[in-house]
Order: sequence, then structure tokens, then C-alpha cells
Amino acid sequence: MTREPYIRRQRDEHGRKSVAVLPVHYPKELLTALDLLAVEVWGPPGAPRSDAAGRIQAYVCSVVRNALAFLASGGADVVDAALFPHTCDSIQQLATLASDFGGWKKPTLTFLHPKDPGRPSARRFLVAELHALAGRLEALAGRRLDPERLTAAIALHDEIDLHRAALLDGRATLPLDDRALYALLRRGEWLWPEEHLAELQAARAKLGTGRPAASIPVLVTGYVPEPSAILEILNGAGAFVAADDYAAVGRRVVRDRRAPATDPWEALADRQLAAPPCPTRVADQGPRMRHLEGLAERSGARGVLVHVVKFCEPELFDVPAIRRTFEARGIPLLYLEGELEAQLSGQAVTRIEAFVEMISGAGGAA
Ligand code: SF4
Repeated sequence: MTREPYIRRQRDEHGRKSVAVLPVHYPKELLTALDLLAVEVWGPPGAPRSDAAGRIQAYVCSVVRNALAFLASGGADVVDAALFPHTCDSIQQLATLASDFGGWKKPTLTFLHPKDPGRPSARRFLVAELHALAGRLEALAGRRLDPERLTAAIALHDEIDLHRAALLDGRATLPLDDRALYALLRRGEWLWPEEHLAELQAARAKLGTGRPAASIPVLVTGYVPEPSAILEILNGAGAFVAADDYAAVGRRVVRDRRAPATDPWEALADRQLAAPPCPTRVADQGPRMRHLEGLAERSGARGVLVHVVKFCEPELFDVPAIRRTFEARGIPLLYLEGELEAQLSGQAVTRIEAFVEMISGAGGAA
């Protein structure tokens, strides 16, 4: 089932309102606890769906351009509100442009996460923001947030992350191709969390029963695996994603969990602060480089694919440090920049194939 009929079915069968959510980080647990369906909008990929994309500067990323065009064309009219996390200046601007230029007439919510989670004031600020967003979501849902339901939602999302982490970490023993694995993981962007959990549990049962058909492990870091053909090309060339640091996928899997705090707001803040390093939230590159090195070591990655969106300042800011980090380790790196195209260019396909050939030890430099 695709998103729109699914959203309608959730409304008709469960009385759930839905919220379009722009990338990247947001407290989904609050929406779950209030029985609100989160439906994430990563572009969507392909050509912009209306000329509203032309209302913003040509040097703004395609995620924002496509999202504005999508909202303006009525693509998200089925939802009840939109949530704009403060991921970057472009998304913050989109929150105002969507109604001024895009004809978006439904409630617009914002969520400002602390940009430097290591600072002592970050937790205080975050808890205040979580309360503020909860108040706006309560108004949308038409009900008060029950602390017990919030505790249950946190436990549910903890469990989801446990399974997502197991699938990503045990990737080399999972007999699925990357496209199938990522389709499963990315259905979590719009399925009701309990349904997503059931799919993850079924997939996890296959861990240890085989291997991906491709055999060369690669670490991928970037924003979002679009176009998804990139995964097919990688697999077809003989490589697979052994370690994931996509903002849309691995960077949102919370592994580092202590015993949950008894106060649900503190537990929620813990989850937000425990997510892996992401340049949309943390300016300090040290922890991110150590995180990437750890992913490469544990997965035995023989190459690194950096796959970013053109004009994405937060991602691009870290690219020189990523290059230096893996150059020092002697691990080859391929840099690919995209604009959420519907298909990969022939040139990109050739570069991926040449890169895989090189790291497999069969060819020269990519
Ligand atoms: S791709 Fe980069 S610049 Fe564009 S919305 Fe995402 S974080 Fe912001």
C-alpha cells in the first residue's frame, strides 16, 4: 500500500490524524503517544511537482525545493499538519515559505533541537522544546498527553531501534539485497510504529541464515538513499552496504541506551541526545569521525561511499574531514553528489562500478 491510501486508512479505521514531517530529527515518540501518524517527506525524489520550486533560489537543496513543490501541488493535502524540525536554515525557511508561497494552509509546527547537545544547557533547552511541541501536538490531536502513553511510546521506539540496529549491524548475515533491506527500513518513515516493528521482527528472524549476494563491504555515509537505484548499482557491481550512516537511516538509530529515566520527559530527552552524531545537530566533527571509523572497523568496510545532496551545507561541511579520516586509514572513498533525481546518471553508475572494481582489488584508481 502506498502512503496516501495508508494515511486514509489510518484515519478511517483508527481515527488517527497524520502529520507530514520534514527531515531529519524529531521526537516521533510524542506523535505516537498522541495517536498521530508521522509521514516523513524526504523531497520526494524526482522532478519537482509544481513550479513553486522556482520560487526559491537555485542554490537551495533539492530536498527543500521538491518539498515546497510537493506541498504546493497538494501532494500532502491528505495530512492534518506539517512539522518542520530545525535541521538547517533551508528547512526553517521552508516552514514560512510553504504557507506564503506554497499555498499550505494547515497548521505548521516547528521543533528546534539543540545544535550542540554536549553543552550543559542543551538538555534544559531540549526538554522545554519537547514540552512546547507536545502542547501544539495536543491541540492537533484534541487530547492531553498521558505520561503513561508517552512512556509506552518511548519503549516502543526503543524496541524498534533495537531491531533496526540488529539488522544494520548484522547486515553481512542477512540474505537480502540492499534495495529490499532499505525498503523495509524506510517504511518506518510512514507506517504506524507497531506495524513497522512487526516487519522488523520478521526480518530479524532471517539474520544469520545467509548472506547478501554481493560480497564487498562498503560504508555509506550521506543524507538519504535516493534514488534507490544506487543500491542496485552497488549490489550489481558486487558491493553491499555493510555499514550505514545515512541521515535518514542509521543516524537515527539510537543504540546507546542507559536504563530509561523514570520521568518520561527525561527519557525522551535521553533518546534525542543519544542518537549518533549528525552534522545537522552537532558541529564538532571529532565524535562523528570516531563514529564513522568505528562503523568501518566493525563492518570491515573496504571502501567508503559519501552520498550527499547538492547544496546541503551541513553534510558538505564534514566532507573534507571524512576524506582526511579515511585517507589516513588507507580506505578508498568515492564522493557522489545528487539532486534527488529519479534515476542515477550514467556517469554516476560508471563511477560506482569503477570504485567497486578498484576496492575489490581487480582494477586501478576510481
Ligand atoms: S539536504 Fe541538507 S540543506 Fe537540504 S534540507 Fe536537508 S539538511 Fe537542509
